Amino acid sequence: MDIKLLTINQLQQAYGSGELSVEAVISAYLDSITHQDSKIKAYLEVLGDKAVKQAEALDSKLRKGEKPGKLFGVPVAIKDNLCLQGSKTTAASKILENYIAPYTATTVQRLLNAGAVVLGKTNMDEFAMGSSCENSAFQKTKNPWDLKRVPGGSSGGSAAAVASQEALVALGSDTGGSIRQPASFCGQVGLKPTYGRVSRYGLIAMASSLDQIGPIARNVADAFKVYQTIAGPDPNDTTTVKALTFDEAALQKGFKNLKIGILKDAYVEGMDEGVVEKIQEAKKLMQENSAEVIEIEVPRAKLSLAIYYIIVTSEVSSNLARYDGIRYGMGKTFNESENFLDYTTRIRAEGLGEEAQRRVLLGAYTLSKGYADRYYHKALALQKSIAKDFEAAFKKVDVVFGPTAPTVAFKLGEKFGDPLTMYLSDIFTVPANIANLPAISLPIGFAHKMPVGGQFVGPSFREDLIFQAAAAYENISGISNLVSAKI
Ligand code: GLN
Repeated sequence: MDIKLLTINQLQQAYGSGELSVEAVISAYLDSITHQDSKIKAYLEVLGDKAVKQAEALDSKLRKGEKPGKLFGVPVAIKDNLCLQGSKTTAASKILENYIAPYTATTVQRLLNAGAVVLGKTNMDEFAMGSSCENSAFQKTKNPWDLKRVPGGSSGGSAAAVASQEALVALGSDTGGSIRQPASFCGQVGLKPTYGRVSRYGLIAMASSLDQIGPIARNVADAFKVYQTIAGPDPNDTTTVKALTFDEAALQKGFKNLKIGILKDAYVEGMDEGVVEKIQEAKKLMQENSAEVIEIEVPRAKLSLAIYYIIVTSEVSSNLARYDGIRYGMGKTFNESENFLDYTTRIRAEGLGEEAQRRVLLGAYTLSKGYADRYYHKALALQKSIAKDFEAAFKKVDVVFGPTAPTVAFKLGEKFGDPLTMYLSDIFTVPANIANLPAISLPIGFAHKMPVGGQFVGPSFREDLIFQAAAAYENISGISNLVSAKI
C-alpha cells in the first residue's frame, strides 16, 4: 500500500484501526519531499522536525484514547503568505525575507486545532501576483507532470506539492484565480470560497476586497473536509459573515435538481483546442448522466479581466505601501543623513520584484487625482453590474460550468516577459472573484499529456451547490486522486 495515495477518510480509518501511525505517514511525506523537491521546488521551507514532533504528540493522544479531530494526522502544506507563528512568512518577496510571523493565521490555526500536521511553507508568486510562480523572489516551482512547464500561480507551490505527493492537501489564496488555475494546471481540485466565508486574518494582503483562502486537494471530498474546517465567522476578520449550513451529504446528491449553465460565449480567441474539446466532452458526459445543461448569457462577464486589473493594482499599491524595509524583516535601518524618500525608493526597488513594482505604479496611477474617477471608481461601478448579470443568470441555473484556464500549463519562460499575455491566463477565473461567487476547479481530462481543469461557479454563499456538482462530476468521470508520475 502506498500510504501517500490514501484519502483523508482512508487515513482516518487506518489511524482508528491502529494500522498506521501518524509518524509513519508524516515520515512518508517528508521522504517524498527529500527525494523530489530539489527538482520540483514546491517548498520554500520544510518544517520537518516540527512535523515529526507533532506527529509523535498526535500518536500519543491516540494511544490515550483521546477523540481525534476532523483532520487528525493529515499532512498539509501552507502557502507562504499565511502566517504561522515562529516561522518565516515571506510571501516569496525579498522585502519579507526574514519576517518571522508573530501570530498564526485563523485558517492555519483551525487546521492545527483539527489535528493537521504542517509540513512546510510553499512557494508562490511574490505577494500572490502572477499566474506561473515565476514571480517568486526565491525559486521557480516546476509542474510535476512536466518539469519544463509552470505549475500555475500564484499558489503554484501548494498545487505542485499536492500533485507530487509532497502533501496530501494544501492551503492557497485566490484573488483572481490563484487557487483554481494552479489546481487545474497540476490536475488537482481547488476551491475559492465566497468572499466572507473564510477568515483572512493572518493572510498577507494582496487585494483585500477580493482575497480568499481555500483548499487544494486530490479529490472533492478531501477539499470539502479542509473547507469545512477553515470556514465560518472569525472575530478577527469582520468580513466573515456566515456559518456553514451544509455538510458532507451535499456530496452524495449527484446531479439531482441541479441545472447547469454553460456560457454561450465560453470560448476565447487563442484558446487551446485540446481544452475546448475536453469542455465539450465534459458537457456531453453530464448530459448522458441525466444532468440538465442549458446555454446562458452573462453579458458583461467579459469585462471582468479589465476591471480586475484596475481594482487589484489600486489595492496592491495601497497594501504594499507598508513595506519600507525597516519593519517586517528586511532588517534595514534608516540613516538620518539620507532623504527618506530616496531611502524608500532605493529599498523598495531592491526589495520588491518587477511585477510588484509594476502594480504599485499602475495602482498609484488608477487611484490618483483626476484618474480615480476614470479608472478606479468606474471599475467599482462595473463590478456591481457584473454581479447583477450573474444574479440574473442564477435565476435560470444553479451553477455555471466552463474551463478554468484557456490552456494547459505553459512552458517556463513562455509568458514571463509579457505581462499582458500572462494576465490573459486569468480570463476564466476572475469573474468569480469580481462577482463574489464561490468556484471550484477539478480535473476533467488531459490534453497534450497535461491535466485540464473545468470549473463550477455558484451563487454567493452556495458552496453546497458547487460541491454537489463537482462531486457528481468526479463520480461519473472517475477522474480523481491524480498524482504525477514519479520524478
Ligand atoms: N494571476 C492573477 C494575478 O496575477 C491572480 C492572482 C491571485 O489570485 N492571487 O493577479
